[in-house]
Amino acid sequence: MSGPPRHLADLGLAERRQAVADLGEREFRADQLSRHYFGRHTDSAQDMTDLPAAVRSALAAALLPPLLTQQRSFACDKGATRKTLWRLHDGALVESVLMKYPDRVTMCVSSQAGCGMGCPFCATGQAGLTRNLSTAEIVAQVVAGERALPAAAAPGPAPGRLCTGNPAHGRVSNVVFMGMGEPLANYRNVIGAVRRLTDPVPAGLGISQRSVTVSTVGLVPAINRLASEGLSVTLAVSLHAPDDEARDGLVPVNRRWKVAEVLSAAWDYAAATGRRISIEYALIRDVNDQPWRADLLGSLLAGHLAHVNLIPLNPTPGSKWTASLPGAQDEFVSRVAAHGVAVTVRDTRGREIDGACGQLAALNSPNAPKGR
Ligand code: SAH
Ligand code: SF4
Repeated sequence: MSGPPRHLADLGLAERRQAVADLGEREFRADQLSRHYFGRHTDSAQDMTDLPAAVRSALAAALLPPLLTQQRSFACDKGATRKTLWRLHDGALVESVLMKYPDRVTMCVSSQAGCGMGCPFCATGQAGLTRNLSTAEIVAQVVAGERALPAAAAPGPAPGRLCTGNPAHGRVSNVVFMGMGEPLANYRNVIGAVRRLTDPVPAGLGISQRSVTVSTVGLVPAINRLASEGLSVTLAVSLHAPDDEARDGLVPVNRRWKVAEVLSAAWDYAAATGRRISIEYALIRDVNDQPWRADLLGSLLAGHLAHVNLIPLNPTPGSKWTASLPGAQDEFVSRVAAHGVAVTVRDTRGREIDGACGQLAALNSPNAPKGR
């Protein structure tokens, strides 16, 4: 099966100009197409009235092919949360979730169809990896989210995001790579997507880098590489246990990169970017929620630029594991906090619509910067 069709969002602005020139058109047409896509969220040739009628369809067909087809969509939280299941050109399925808050709109995107990391508590991990998403397939999830937002639903464009566009759409303010897949296992395309999301219009969507969170299971070489990109995105590390014994069972890649190596890479990332690390920890009853593990976690993180997000486990169908009892969760929180470490329990936005994908309960990011 051939890969996804090439799309303008796979290319930087200079490459887009070249692609347009290769099609026999003037280079500035690339900027016009880019404004339509990133500024007005349209890929339909008939909307592009600033382009000569004779070239619109050819350019749109060559550079704005449809990438996502909506398969199903579910709303909950009185419409504030919406999960969409998308079908890709080859039939692969991925999910994205749009979450509206009073002060921000967060889009949770998938970076892969499936995931090869095999974490036993995660629904995506059970099915294995189908394939990496292209840069444009990732970006298209966010563009679709913006397209779905009425202007009034969002805090409105920040300075620098104002564009001469269709004011009928709201804006996504935050993007979290917490849908399906391990983003750092699809490194190139994810970095391309981060750049497209954060470059200003017309090069990209103009979302603030600080409002983008990349969540990883702990691929140490890729964390180091990310630290050298000169980006100021937030890194979330899915730790889930402070000791190798428990983590080896919960996160199979821990057999390759141990807790100490993962945390050391995280602190290097914090030092390089000045960004606080988000430590993700799914609380699982009698597996990783013991008081001594809370103490160990607190002592490992104390004094570092870190924040703990405790996620009540959302059991996958047939799972032998369940979420911690409320008392155990409260004690875990207070023991971590006693070490002077910032800790919050995530709200479980979207829990009622996440049946197909365990981790989608986990995507609210309370420590994400507000607005932009
Ligand atoms: N692969 C990346 C990003 C996608 S998963 C990662 O693992 O970080 C996003 C988050 O959801 C991760 O912190 C993951 O551990 C968590 N998660 C997965 N399944 C879950 C479940 N059943 N209950 C609670 N959190 C879960
Ligand atoms: Fe993959 Fe993340 Fe799920 Fe682990 S938790 S299987 S890395 S998506």
